[in-house]
Amino acid sequence: MAVIKKSKAEIEAMKEAGRVSAKVLREVGARVEPGISTLELDRMCEMLIRLEGGVPAFKGYMGFPGSICASVNDAIVHGIPSADVILQEGDIISIDTGAIVDGWVGDNAWTFAVGSISPEKQKLLEVTEQCMWAGLDAMQEGNRLNDIGRAVQTIAENNGFGVVREYVGHGVGRSMHEDPNVPNYFIRTNRMPLEVGMVFAIEPMINMGTYKTRQGDDGWIVYTADGLPSAHFEKMVAITEDGPIILTTEPDHRRPVND
Ligand code: MG
Repeated sequence: MAVIKKSKAEIEAMKEAGRVSAKVLREVGARVEPGISTLELDRMCEMLIRLEGGVPAFKGYMGFPGSICASVNDAIVHGIPSADVILQEGDIISIDTGAIVDGWVGDNAWTFAVGSISPEKQKLLEVTEQCMWAGLDAMQEGNRLNDIGRAVQTIAENNGFGVVREYVGHGVGRSMHEDPNVPNYFIRTNRMPLEVGMVFAIEPMINMGTYKTRQGDDGWIVYTADGLPSAHFEKMVAITEDGPIILTTEPDHRRPVND
């Protein structure tokens, strides 16, 4: 496993891709409401990224057509934005997006409620966000790679939820997907030490029911096998000499990892 560590200056440069990615995700998320299509959200996102001087990181990646992945209800990840997918009151939607700025990739995701949602979906969102923060908290020098998955899995399973296995977090830098894979579940042998200069995208995908998945017909979208809802939250974190910092954040919205 060849992990590309980043210098202090490189991590500093990655903050701008992170800032833009976080800003556009927040702004697109604010437009989530019943009646809007996922294609409209995608168009808005691409425009906002370009206004910030960035390039959509997802568009054209392995042939993906959108600037966002838009995954509604039982869709876990990789939903293609579409004029035919109109958000309805009570839906949840994972929006995953990123910008390339000065050659550095930003990548982040959030699951938004469409209008008012059921208490069960609300709990899924809260627990999955909590899983993400626990994973980010585990990204510490001296910890090991599998501490991240253990932290996420413990919270998810204590709440009776399933942790997706087939899709995982990842290293990130000049490429969107670098080594290592960052599973959201515990693998005993994943004992790589976490070190200064590592930059990971930590992104729990948590299902209300089974962890098992089903690939959709378009070759992209992934659903839960049992049709129950799934949530997905993602941020990028770097280990610096001064400790871990979150890169996909805006200065005004910045919060420490250990809050
Ligand atoms: Mg990612």
